[in-house]
Amino acid sequence: MPRLNLAKLPTPLDEAPRLSAALGPRILFKRDDLTGVGLGGNKVRKLEFLIARALQEGADTLIASGGFQSNLARIAVAMANGVGMRTELVLGGVPGEPRPMVGNLLLDRLLGAKVTYVDTEPRWDFGDSIERVEAEVRRRGGHPYVVPLGASSAEGVAAYICATAELQQQLVELNVEPHHLIVGVGSGGTYTGLLLGQMNLQAGYRVTGISVSRTREYLLDKIPEFAREAGSELQLSHLPRRQDIFVQDEYVGPSYGALTQGCSEAIRLVARTEGVILDPVYSGKAMAGLIGMIRSGLIRRDETVVFLHTGGQPALFAYESEQLLGRE
Ligand SMILES: *Cc1c(COP(=O)(O)O)cnc(C)c1O
Repeated sequence: MPRLNLAKLPTPLDEAPRLSAALGPRILFKRDDLTGVGLGGNKVRKLEFLIARALQEGADTLIASGGFQSNLARIAVAMANGVGMRTELVLGGVPGEPRPMVGNLLLDRLLGAKVTYVDTEPRWDFGDSIERVEAEVRRRGGHPYVVPLGASSAEGVAAYICATAELQQQLVELNVEPHHLIVGVGSGGTYTGLLLGQMNLQAGYRVTGISVSRTREYLLDKIPEFAREAGSELQLSHLPRRQDIFVQDEYVGPSYGALTQGCSEAIRLVARTEGVILDPVYSGKAMAGLIGMIRSGLIRRDETVVFLHTGGQPALFAYESEQLLGRE
């Protein structure tokens, strides 16, 4: 697969000694919030592959979609700017332009993206709005490339198989053999890449995904689909069956993006023990999941855990301080 070289790699793999002391198991952070473009995050690795594909197909305009605090959108605009492509964003969630304009959305506009707002409530459905933007770009003589939802095509999955190889090398250098790799799950592409990486590169840990939106049932169907797609393009020998997939959906809370008490507590704990900033939509809920798994005994205190920090911090600025700080 074609790939650009835009991310700052390898991202650090850091011990978290004070968080480990607070929770029990030995915890290390794989810092994919530090991938280095457009304030970083897991979408940088995925877009290295997807933008390379877009350029190979002669595209000059990237079309990306997501919620109005989408990290993918922000990173897509920054990376497209860096290779001289235009970006059109199709953002859903609320009718009209959200006010105040903060967090990722502010950055999208600062980076110069053209934004079309779609009222996707109550269902997460863009209807034909992406096709309409695509047709409009063509009508103006442009060549659009539509980034799949969550950048979770075979290319996006491949990015996290490569990330597994990077992680494995760091683990060898540090002489660490973790029992668990924990990651937040949105669309599921990152999890699928990490699971395919673990299975095909024979890593000794179990990959557990903490869902921030989808149900476990949905993901148990969707992840093998992503895996088959990537597996056939990359000719992988090991593909996951349902029983190979470990995902938890108990930490979503009322909805995608709704701040849970567990999430805001997890963000404060990690900030105050390690000085590491998590995000309210993905990594905060993933950390709430890790804490829950330790408390329920699914992860033992004598085990070692790698926590993948996927970024997303700009969304913090779209939340109320009272919610993030609790009753302080
Ligand atoms: C998109 C995203 C995820 C989830 O990745 P998927 O591949 O969609 O499951 C996790 N964390 C952050 C910060 C993200 O932006």
